[in-house]
Amino acid sequence: MPENDDAAAHVKTCQFSDEYLAMGFAWTGDPDCPSPLCIVCGEKLANSAMVPAKLKRHLATKRHDVAHKDKQYFERSLSLNKNKQLRLRMQIKALQSMKYLVCRPA
Ligand SMILES: [Zn+2]
Repeated sequence: MPENDDAAAHVKTCQFSDEYLAMGFAWTGDPDCPSPLCIVCGEKLANSAMVPAKLKRHLATKRHDVAHKDKQYFERSLSLNKNKQLRLRMQIKALQSMKYLVCRPA
């Protein structure tokens, strides 16, 4: 139906801005329709929440203790999160290969 296609084409997607990092957010998902990802609690918000007022409100209501931190704090936290994810992936791979060794028929 052409009307639905037109409506879908006009749905506005919000794009990530570097200034959101200073508000404690990175992004995840589809680059054409990114979702804001809270660096502090890991919560993924809807694309429609990718506006400064909603991002600030998230931290102010859920983690007011870090809401006043600067961009460097959030960059450091993001880097630590990525390192944790990398270590976790390596541990999972190691466990999977151990499982393979244990379950491998003689
Ligand atoms: Zn959060």
